[in-house]
Amino acid sequence: MATLLTHHPAFADHRTTPGHPERPDRYRVVEATLRQERFDRLVRVEANIADPDVTRYVHSNRYVDTLEAARPAEGYVLLDGGDTMMEPSTWEVVLRGVGGTLQAVDAVLAGDVQNAFVASRPPGHHAETERAMGFCLFNNIGIGARHAQRNHGLGRVAIVDFDVHHGNGTQEIFYSDPSVLYASTHQMPLFPGTGAVSETGVGNIVNSPLSPGDGGTALREAFEARILPTLDAFRPELILVSAGFDAHERDPLASLEMTADDFGWATRMLMDAAERNCDGRLVTVLEGGYDLRGLAESVDAHVSELQKG
Ligand code: ZN
Repeated sequence: MATLLTHHPAFADHRTTPGHPERPDRYRVVEATLRQERFDRLVRVEANIADPDVTRYVHSNRYVDTLEAARPAEGYVLLDGGDTMMEPSTWEVVLRGVGGTLQAVDAVLAGDVQNAFVASRPPGHHAETERAMGFCLFNNIGIGARHAQRNHGLGRVAIVDFDVHHGNGTQEIFYSDPSVLYASTHQMPLFPGTGAVSETGVGNIVNSPLSPGDGGTALREAFEARILPTLDAFRPELILVSAGFDAHERDPLASLEMTADDFGWATRMLMDAAERNCDGRLVTVLEGGYDLRGLAESVDAHVSELQKG
């Protein structure tokens, strides 16, 4: 079966302030990578703008309403101390990121495709119930998990996060919910400061921090010792992946030493876990990745693996 790509040229909107690492060129290099001939077999669907109400699956009414009201007519509105921002296009762009995620979940659960990659920006995994943070406004992956439960009747959904930063938002949203597993590898110490092994929720949170300088061997050990056994024990009905590529050795925001091959390997391991547990149903959503060449190489390896089925 095929691999779905949800994408949209509008993901190159949402301008950020000069010098900001989370910039429109990130999306442009992802699109350019996936336009290469070897990705011709991808099923391509343009992401829709989601109904804002679906964001309330994981965000508070107060947060969603405040964000909508904050949309500027021009210039920027700075949130979260200036790291996270809104400009006139932002509201539609972030709703489109949510929409693309829901379309991917729908297509995989309908059996139309084997798996899916959501090429979107800005990322989402730092956004908490009531707080924009770390370039993130809506927690796409969390909304996707809730959508699978509420609208497709799934019981157990697993979220695996290999972005170099800990997904504090996803952890916070599901911290006391045993129906959602959150398993993360990330550099520690590093922004946002959460993600210690001792943060376990109700037994549904599994943090596997890596040390600055760690490379692919440490990632593989973390997957084999903790992430993959935890997934198999949880028996998810769907696996969602926060696919951030900022653990790449070229990335300016962190100091792990991963290569594109490491991301390809992690992708294969998660596909195999999905095969063992849930008929291969896997949806991956782009999170970070701030070196353009590192991002392009990593997305290439990730999506190449996905489409091997
Ligand atoms: Zn990140």
